[in-house]
Amino acid sequence: MTGGAGFIGSHLSDRLLAEGHHVVCLDNFFTGRRANLEHLLDNAGFEVMHHDVCEPMFVEVDQIYNLACPASPVHYQYNPVKTVKSNVMGTLNMLVLAKRVGARILQASTSEIYGDPTVHPQPETYWGNVNTTGPRACYDEGKRVAETLMSDYHREDHVDIRIARIFNTYGPRMAENDGRVVSNFIVQALRGQELTLYGTGEQTRSFCYVDDLVDGLVRLMNAEGRTEPVNLGNPVEFTIKELAEEVVKVVGGETRVTYRPLPEDDPTQRQPDITRAREWLGWEPRIQLADGLVRTVDYFRQRLARRNRAALSRVDQGGSPLLD
Ligand code: NAD
Ligand code: UDP
Repeated sequence: MTGGAGFIGSHLSDRLLAEGHHVVCLDNFFTGRRANLEHLLDNAGFEVMHHDVCEPMFVEVDQIYNLACPASPVHYQYNPVKTVKSNVMGTLNMLVLAKRVGARILQASTSEIYGDPTVHPQPETYWGNVNTTGPRACYDEGKRVAETLMSDYHREDHVDIRIARIFNTYGPRMAENDGRVVSNFIVQALRGQELTLYGTGEQTRSFCYVDDLVDGLVRLMNAEGRTEPVNLGNPVEFTIKELAEEVVKVVGGETRVTYRPLPEDDPTQRQPDITRAREWLGWEPRIQLADGLVRTVDYFRQRLARRNRAALSRVDQGGSPLLD
């Protein structure tokens, strides 16, 4: 697996190890964290390699989950050229490996390949509406080329491919500082801060809990002959304003929001059509937003409490509370 130290990759590692697989995790730790893997380091079936997928790699494997790429707009826009490289060169390197060792390869693609969609909800047959020169293009176009590379290696070299178009996913181990809306709102609500609504807050997203998503990825990887893209996401759609209210319901207190400018090219609506996943994989999400938020808020509550305890103990020892 590439990107195994990240949010989704660490949960996928948990699942694969629980099923008795040997997992080799390649990661350059750009957005991945050692803490996401801490609980796996003693597992004999788990191997971590500090590796950048822009460089070639040889390792004997029979399945490759290609997840390496920062997923939040703040992180993928930090070094946009690197984002394109991770998607294009990274996917190419993994396809070369898949061809060489005869492995099946699953690409973590994204709903962002639909851009700001003019068809709603989005089926896999929709070709999308992406701005090729905007600030999101490094990610959207990078992922589109990755899908193209996957499809060409399949057509020309018969590499056994799977393409998962992942929609907004949330859960424990999201990075607290990555700017994504669920982690932002939860951390703001737990700290008693105002929730930052971008634009009017009327734009929509559909949020999938990470355990559901991982189940979809594993089903897709193991489904025979499904080489066409498959949407994986929760089709229940919320405005961002409604999400803010849901988060505050779980955390407690009053909903206090502050409005900020809408980022450029921010899609106005997004909802997956999951007919294909239902029919091909027998998959659909089971965890409702309210339940998934409870688990995610619990995680962030503990993480912030640990952070505060560590800061206090530094103060007790005469140090600064700010150094972490
Ligand atoms: P994440 O940022 O938490 O994880 C990405 C991982 O890839 C990190 O561990 C990072 O260090 C690693 N990485 C980045 N560039 C690399 C490189 N060049 N070489 C090696 N490792 C590299 O993101 P995530 O939410 O876990 O997303 C995982 C995958 O799923 C990504 O490909 C993302 O595009 C896709 N996806 C995620 C979502 C979502 O809502 N989380 C939605 C659509 C698609
Ligand atoms: N958003 C927001 N406040 C925040 C972070 C994000 O209103 O603090 C909005 C953002 O403009 C977008 C939606 O929430 O409309 C989802 O943003 P995110 O970055 O999580 O995912 P993406 O835009 O990639 O779907």
